[in-house]
Amino acid sequence: MTTPLKITPITLAKLAKLGITRRSDLVLHLPLRYEDETHLAPIATLQVGESAQIQGVVAHSEVTHRPHRALVCRLEDGSGEVFLRFLHFHAGIQQQLKVGKRVRAVGEVREGFYGREMVHPKCSNVEDDTPLQTSLTPVYPTTAGLSQTSLRKLILNALDVIPISDTLPAALCNRLSLQDFPSSIRLLHQPTPDISAARLEAHSHPAWQRIKFDELLAQQISMRIHHRERHQRAAVALLPRGTLTQSLLAALPFSLTQAQQKVLAEISRDLSLPHPMQRLLLGDVGSGKTIVAALAALQAIENGYQVALMSPTEILAEQHFLKLSEWLEPLGITPVWLSGSLKKSAKQRATAAIASGETLLAIGTHALFQKNVQFHKLGLAIVDEQHKFGVEQRLALHAKGKESAEITQAVRPELVEGQSTPSNVGLKPDLRNSVHPSTGPGRTESESSAARAPEPHQLMMSATPIPRTLAMSFYADLDVSVIDELPPGRTPIVTKLVNDNRRAEVCERVRAACAKGQQAYWVCPLIEESETLELQNAQETFENMQATFSELRVGLVHGRLDNAEKVRVMAAFKAGELDLLVATTVIEVGVDVPNASLMVIEHAERMGLAQLHQLRGRVGRGAAHSLCILLFQPPLSELARARLKIIFEHTDGFVIAQEDLQLRGPGELLGARQSGVAMLRFADLNEDGELLELARKVADELLSDDPDTCRKHLQRWIAHKHDFLHV
Ligand code: ADP
Ligand code: MG
Repeated sequence: MTTPLKITPITLAKLAKLGITRRSDLVLHLPLRYEDETHLAPIATLQVGESAQIQGVVAHSEVTHRPHRALVCRLEDGSGEVFLRFLHFHAGIQQQLKVGKRVRAVGEVREGFYGREMVHPKCSNVEDDTPLQTSLTPVYPTTAGLSQTSLRKLILNALDVIPISDTLPAALCNRLSLQDFPSSIRLLHQPTPDISAARLEAHSHPAWQRIKFDELLAQQISMRIHHRERHQRAAVALLPRGTLTQSLLAALPFSLTQAQQKVLAEISRDLSLPHPMQRLLLGDVGSGKTIVAALAALQAIENGYQVALMSPTEILAEQHFLKLSEWLEPLGITPVWLSGSLKKSAKQRATAAIASGETLLAIGTHALFQKNVQFHKLGLAIVDEQHKFGVEQRLALHAKGKESAEITQAVRPELVEGQSTPSNVGLKPDLRNSVHPSTGPGRTESESSAARAPEPHQLMMSATPIPRTLAMSFYADLDVSVIDELPPGRTPIVTKLVNDNRRAEVCERVRAACAKGQQAYWVCPLIEESETLELQNAQETFENMQATFSELRVGLVHGRLDNAEKVRVMAAFKAGELDLLVATTVIEVGVDVPNASLMVIEHAERMGLAQLHQLRGRVGRGAAHSLCILLFQPPLSELARARLKIIFEHTDGFVIAQEDLQLRGPGELLGARQSGVAMLRFADLNEDGELLELARKVADELLSDDPDTCRKHLQRWIAHKHDFLHV
């Protein structure tokens, strides 16, 4: 019977850095790659570039000083000779590599100063009959100060002392053709030599499939628990009365597209239920999300409840304010405006109107969700371009949602989504103890009735088109509606890639378009390193444009502009009082000026695909033929070339997002959200879409039929990480 190895506090701290706090986490710490130490290669057969294990006798050993100080020895095995070279070495190694010693070495062969050599190979002294390894040697992700050898020992020990059972029923594994967990995990830690290391490293072996499936399943179960748990919390049922919504629909100059009607029906139904809606409305740039938001807002207002509409930037918030005022004032609803830059007295007036319930619709930036803003009866919170908000703002929004509930009733914090704080997620290392999972479906069911107090419904909108598989995984805790068609009458935007040395021609193009009464954007380059430089550049471009186009009315908008000024410029552009708007990428999100039909983007090669797509979406909003000119400056990097090709070839945001995913991987695409995706260590959403879909299906099945299995599974995979999921 093996006993658990003692672990020193120093090692515990190192393990914690690797996310290992329980012995069972060690079992799930899987190799990055393997070294084959199961056989010896004759030195004469070594190929440059190959990794190999060799054994021989040291024929010569010295510390050289040219070209660098190094310990160099010559190893011979009867078939040939090779040099071992160490740039950093201590007395121990010198001792090991004394002339006459028998040495086993593992390393990569290269062509060196003296001939074929291994630099810093792994070495040990052996006897003639020292046995070889019987399985491939795993190489684990580790951290400074924790050697592969110690980590390997700890993991092998954990494999012996931890009972490794399958969390999933055998029948389920059979049905899904999944290898069992115990044999999969053992195989990955100690693969026999007949298994190809390449296949293991590519994660395509059935053992890996099983581990990845388990990981995805845990993530899906966890997110679906949140999803279900929400349906046990209370919200006010906002019934569709139709009084106001019908009036707005009748007054609109257009009728809703099929897609808009479909998503509106989904939202309207959710609002009428006594559970908090958390719905994500996905729709490509220009697909018409704003009117959907307005109609959703009216459903709450018809019921006498307040609505908050929050946007990530002042420009966008202001635009919504104007648009919704135009739509809703004829119905007797006057929105109130609240942003950080408002004067103190105006701010006080706005917050007072919100607190008294006098105003039913508040529009603004995240200032809406600051502590000093108290809603009287908040029924619906709408967040536009939600991907632009950071984690903290999302937390503030959640907290705002909870406020009224908390006043009347204490809510168990760990059951409330989005309330994870560093203090309750940073659990103590419990390597020495058995683990009690902090969350599980059983608990949710038995205790959720304690958390019954109404909270507002939430509608999140985003133009980040996300490939379906990713959306499923990423937003498994939300309900998702998709607007999958654009309003009719749009003429497709033509995109042109133009070398910067043809700038003069482009200017003539701008001149001609504006002469015909069209409006144009000129987007200044992104300068990531320095905002100051970026602004300076925008200012210079603006002055150049004024000089070049003396007959045109030119405006400038950038991030550092005083807000009132920003709003004034945008309003002037919208009203047609400016022909050309020089802008930084502040106009990226949401700006809607239908008469603008020409856009020039400078240094397009510096921008990401999502950003280019968003920018380009500022044109093509009216009936006129729109043109987007992407100026680029060679030489182009491989990545820049690939991006420009994609943006040139595609206008469908979903396709672009899919391509972007291929190009960059999901982590970067999704940015800040700490989520299920960030938690995935083994599964890769680019490759494991099918496994993910399966996991999603199985998660729902298990949650309905087999909560015990869910609990066991979560305990293994994310007992203490559960809270991270929902920030
Ligand atoms: P986004 O989804 O990017 O937020 P907007 O809501 O700003 O898009 O809508 C883009 C433009 O399309 C606006 O000018 C809006 O008034 C208009 N629009 C929205 N729905 C329709 C429709 N069904 N038919 C015609 N135009 C529409
Ligand atoms: Mg919008």
